[in-house]
Amino acid sequence: MSPIPLVIIGGGPAGYTAAIYAARAGLHPILYQGPNPGGQLTITGEVENYPGYKNGITGPAMMEDFKAQAERFGTVVKTGTITKVDFATYPRRLTLDNGASVLAQSVIIAAGASAKWLGLPAEKRLYGKGVSACAICDGFFFKGKTVVVVGGGDTAAEESLYLANLCQKVHLLVRKGQMRASKIMQERLFKRPNIQVSFHTEVKDIIGQESIEAVETVHTLSKTITLIEATGLFVAIGHQPNTSPFLPYIEVDQQGYIQTKRGTTQTNIPGVFAAGDIQDPYYRQAVTAAGTGCMAALDAERFLKETSEDFLKETN
Ligand code: NDP
Repeated sequence: MSPIPLVIIGGGPAGYTAAIYAARAGLHPILYQGPNPGGQLTITGEVENYPGYKNGITGPAMMEDFKAQAERFGTVVKTGTITKVDFATYPRRLTLDNGASVLAQSVIIAAGASAKWLGLPAEKRLYGKGVSACAICDGFFFKGKTVVVVGGGDTAAEESLYLANLCQKVHLLVRKGQMRASKIMQERLFKRPNIQVSFHTEVKDIIGQESIEAVETVHTLSKTITLIEATGLFVAIGHQPNTSPFLPYIEVDQQGYIQTKRGTTQTNIPGVFAAGDIQDPYYRQAVTAAGTGCMAALDAERFLKETSEDFLKETN
């Protein structure tokens, strides 16, 4: 089996942008899109903050555009989840969920991150119809309305502050008696008159069929049930980078995100690069993911041009 010059893992903005650049550079990339083709954007509503779409675009339509642009220059898009890798040998071996494996001279990991969810049945049903995990993406649709945010960390604090600028009222539900968010964020939160923080409070159910009408909460100590009339529920209980197949080899930070060499997309493994949300606990935007996808393709191109032949000679 002859190795593929470049395999890109992930079909979100980072993966497709890497593919566009790599294909135009003549690297003949193969891109594997996993269980959620298009990534997190396909489960969001309208995208209004991606430059170039002046009238906005739905997440799925935007990802179709990205895919078509990558294919136009010769990217081969395949469906399959990488479940295992061998980065100890060269070329790198990637094993798919159907048991097949491919060899790659260079790899871009752009497998994204997944928002953590509460696990309520209504949460799935109302996803994109009031339930969201991204205030910057969806907050605008709740202008002047009442919304509920769940979580006690910096993300929940930041989402609440962002929403407080748009919404009439924000209810922040914290399951414990204190927040985990940094002191400064908490101070900002408590200063805002339209943010109400409820401690020891969990979501019991989300009321509504086609849209949210109310959020049913339970006080964890008194067991009192309360109904909050709201049209939006923002779940901000953390994200999980999709790193598990790569962990035996790839270095990650304390939060589990892939570590890259400062100012580049280079991981600790030569010829393996990381782009998008899998290496970004902070910005997590489509446009920033696309930016690092571009960087990864340029890094891979340089690696293949300058290093790959020598590296192959050394390791074989
Ligand atoms: P965190 O892991 O810090 O916090 C998650 C929060 O969600 C915790 O308060 C946790 O509660 C709560 N939670 C988890 N599961 C549930 C559940 N099932 N029901 C209700 N609540 C739940 O995640 P973040 O995304 O907030 O932050 C991740 C990292 O990114 C942190 O290091 C943070 O500091 C950083 N960050 C920094 C920002 C900044 O500096 N501006 C902005 C955003 C993030 P409990 O405390 O009870 O476990």
